[in-house]
Amino acid sequence: LRTPLIVGNWKMNLNHREAAQFMQQLAWILRDGRFDPSACEIAILPPFTSIHSVQVLVQADKLSICYGAQTVSVTSQGAFTGDVSADMLSALGCTYVLVGHSERRRYHSDDDANLVDQVRATLAAGMQPILCVGEGYEERREGIELDYAVGQVDDITRDLSEEDARKLIIAYEPVWAIGTGLVATPQSAQDAAHAIRTHLERTYSADLAAQARILYGGSVTSANALTLLTQARDMDGFLIGGASLEAEEFSAIIQQI
Ligand code: 13P
Repeated sequence: LRTPLIVGNWKMNLNHREAAQFMQQLAWILRDGRFDPSACEIAILPPFTSIHSVQVLVQADKLSICYGAQTVSVTSQGAFTGDVSADMLSALGCTYVLVGHSERRRYHSDDDANLVDQVRATLAAGMQPILCVGEGYEERREGIELDYAVGQVDDITRDLSEEDARKLIIAYEPVWAIGTGLVATPQSAQDAAHAIRTHLERTYSADLAAQARILYGGSVTSANALTLLTQARDMDGFLIGGASLEAEEFSAIIQQI
């Protein structure tokens, strides 16, 4: 029903030369290995300056790999120094834009109003937003993690039409699990994915909820991916940080799908 999606978020790593090298290695490993391109979808989110390198390699080797950006400007063009528009990204062949990663929420002015506009800008340019939600350590300690994550989804989807919401991918990334080696248990990843899916069903429809792809992110590696995937039934793939930076490790996760 839902094609698994494995997304590598490179964050601020791999310059354009390193990106090209990574893509060559990944292409070589996947061609050689037991990878069935119809079994799962792969996406890479490089820093802006490396997107073109990834595009060139994807086109040259005819790779079935998508790519995208880690954030986007809410405006379409003009005097916004340092920003990159959705149309610029779609002109580079981007499929996805990550919206609301906890690092963006924390270090930049990506608040709810801004994130809603990022979602709209992404959709208007024909790309798909991957919305990140997830509680911090405090909310987990208080036992309110599910309400918190669902609330974050609701903050962004409240005014989104069903047609637009169909293009949304949601990544549940508990902040305490990001880059810490503390991976969520399959049960808590499942509980969060299930709570989000139930919320989508209530807000929109059973059909939309059944088709929505929900990912888990936070300290995913080739050592824990299989357990998470097989035991968290409502989860459709991963958003991977550190383990997506080396082609060997990233492909070891992909090949378990
Ligand atoms: P790590 O996989 O390094 O924990 O990072 C997760 C993440 O933030 C992906 O967006």
